[in-house]
Amino acid sequence: MSQVYDRVALIGLGLIASSMFWAIKRSGLAGEVTGYARSQETRDIARQIGLCDRVCDSAADAAKGADLVVLCVPVGAMGVVAAEIAPVLKPGATISDVGSVKRDVIDAVAPYVPQGVHFVPAHPLAGTEHSGPKSGFAELFDNRWCLLVPTQGSDPDSVATLRKFWEAMGANVNEMDAEHHDLVLAVTSHAPHLIAYTMVGVADDLRRVTDSEVIEYSAAGFRDFTRIAASDPTMWRDVFLSNKEATLEILGRFTEELFALQRAIRTGDGDHLFDYFTRTRAIRRSIIDAGQDTEAPNFGRDPGHKE
Ligand code: NAP
Repeated sequence: MSQVYDRVALIGLGLIASSMFWAIKRSGLAGEVTGYARSQETRDIARQIGLCDRVCDSAADAAKGADLVVLCVPVGAMGVVAAEIAPVLKPGATISDVGSVKRDVIDAVAPYVPQGVHFVPAHPLAGTEHSGPKSGFAELFDNRWCLLVPTQGSDPDSVATLRKFWEAMGANVNEMDAEHHDLVLAVTSHAPHLIAYTMVGVADDLRRVTDSEVIEYSAAGFRDFTRIAASDPTMWRDVFLSNKEATLEILGRFTEELFALQRAIRTGDGDHLFDYFTRTRAIRRSIIDAGQDTEAPNFGRDPGHKE
């Protein structure tokens, strides 16, 4: 694969940025990658493990002269970081982000984007429950979706180059508008995370089930909730505060369906339960058919692997 940008700057050096760096290196997609993280500790780790060709001590230093600057910080921090780097952005450069919510990020960042700089928001639909500079790996985006959310007046050439860049990092790319993105993600990611957090919280509160039993017998379904509920608290706090409307809309529907299932159980309406579960099983089938998960028993996970 050939170089797409001369210089890429990654602001924030956690799971997503470090995975981007290794994916960029895997295919030689940039001449130089600079990076910046807020804490000295993360910058030291990055230098130790060779994460980025050059780790800078300020976001502005990292962004200066870059052809592509990607904001890889929690959604709630995007505006502050954009304000900090705006004065040094090179004319003709592209500024993008990887935030899990789009409308709020666009509203927070767009006012700072200088004339002559192209803003092309993006969101790779790939992640793990791990965070920090050591958690990334080059394959994270392979065969996953990356949604580009061009804003009004986004330059078509810079959108096309960013698309090429994400494709070269292994992703399938699609374009979507911000409102639709936030609703889709509320269904597929944000509400499920909140439900997982709730379920794990309930088990924690339910002292009749001892801790050891919860842990010992977790493979019966609970374990998958615990994996999701182990996700980064800062990131997810920001996601819910930023995608408030769509998440509340989906949770409202969820609650109605939950009440209907609850009533079916109480009244012994087996047909309702059976029909419902048949419908949901078909959704699982279509996810596997789309190549977005494995059919292997145990979700393809090694039973001895503690993830
Ligand atoms: P992460 O591993 O927790 O890393 C976050 C990075 O941002 C760290 O380098 C951190 O610096 C820096 N940071 C945190 N707060 C900051 C602030 N107020 N100002 C400046 N820098 C700050 O996070 P991640 O999982 O890579 O997520 C990054 C972005 O990607 C988020 O917007 C998230 O919504 C999005 N995203 C995440 C996933 C996922 O599954 N994790 C998937 C798709 C998109 P320090 O280390 O110095 O604290």
